[in-house]
Amino acid sequence: MRGLLLWCAQNPWLATHVPRWRFARRAVRRFLPGEGFEAALKAATEFRARGVASLFTLLGENVTDLADANKVVEHYEEVLAASAGVQAEVSVKPTQLGLDIDPDAAYDNLQRLTRAAANARTFLWIDMEGSAYTERTLDLYKTLRAEHANVGLALQAYLHRTVTDVASLMPVKPAIRLVKGAYAESPEIAFTAKREVDENYLALCSLMLPEVKRRNLRLVLATHDTVLIAKAWRFGQALGMERQQFEVAMLYGIRTDEQLRLAREGFAVRDLISWGDAWYAWYLRRLAERPANMWFVARQLLP
Ligand SMILES: Cc1cc2nc3c(=O)[nH]c(=O)nc-3n(C[C@H](O)[C@H](O)[C@H](O)COP(=O)(O)OP(=O)(O)OC[C@H]3O[C@@H](n4cnc5c(N)ncnc54)[C@H](O)[C@@H]3O)c2cc1C
Repeated sequence: MRGLLLWCAQNPWLATHVPRWRFARRAVRRFLPGEGFEAALKAATEFRARGVASLFTLLGENVTDLADANKVVEHYEEVLAASAGVQAEVSVKPTQLGLDIDPDAAYDNLQRLTRAAANARTFLWIDMEGSAYTERTLDLYKTLRAEHANVGLALQAYLHRTVTDVASLMPVKPAIRLVKGAYAESPEIAFTAKREVDENYLALCSLMLPEVKRRNLRLVLATHDTVLIAKAWRFGQALGMERQQFEVAMLYGIRTDEQLRLAREGFAVRDLISWGDAWYAWYLRRLAERPANMWFVARQLLP
């Protein structure tokens, strides 16, 4: 089911047609407060009041025209200017900024956004996309990090290479958001069994948490897996970490009760809030993460 859903995520015919179906639009609401940024800002304000910070992202990927990438940058510049006061950070996809068309233009766009984030006294995160982009995204990040302190990168625990990537990033004192990984990858390059991905996730945490304590490196555990979070925190505690140094991020609409619980317990929690109409591929990846969500979609077919 996971493979089928990830295949559907990349199918151009479905990408054009499914967003027109009303039941699909109803189903996606579960993971989006709305299609406009105003809804995201409202949700962030409400989370902020309950001790949870936000991470904003405009849906969309693989733009085919640099003019569209420029519009994305301008939109984020407005978002950054408008979101002072809700403790929001921003997360962007390199292919939404033109990586497929012109890597130099994508770099310039990332730099513009990193500056805009610095002006807004906040932080820019770079999402990690499918493995075809891993090497280029790491290169972009290393160059950007040499010039800016307020930029972080997502790394995927399902990739075999990630342990080496962590080692290669350490000299630049990276900020890392550790995820399990959301794309369809082959067994040659990725762990496919959940147990192996989870083991690698913890192994990567045990490499990086001592650096959080020793060098104040930023590590965000971006997962809804509260068992993994608890295991990583036990290690953090053994290292003498403070709860506020231990950062967790989850997606809007998923395990909200756990997000609030962790915030109440004193951990630094962030909710990733998305908006925009380009939700198709992103939504299919959410369904693939938990095929039981298909029942929720099916229910939307009922009157
Ligand atoms: C803040 C954030 C940023 C991310 N950024 C990236 C990125 O840049 N690149 C990338 O490849 N991936 C990214 N991801 C997605 C990530 O790779 C996983 O696909 C996703 O988080 C699901 O895996 P999990 O870690 O929650 O663990 P899982 O083992 O999949 O899930 C653990 C538990 O969480 C719950 N759960 C998980 N997903 C869902 C869901 N969709 N619906 C309902 N319940 C669910 C279930 O109860 C499940 O048992 C991001 C995730 C988060 C939270």
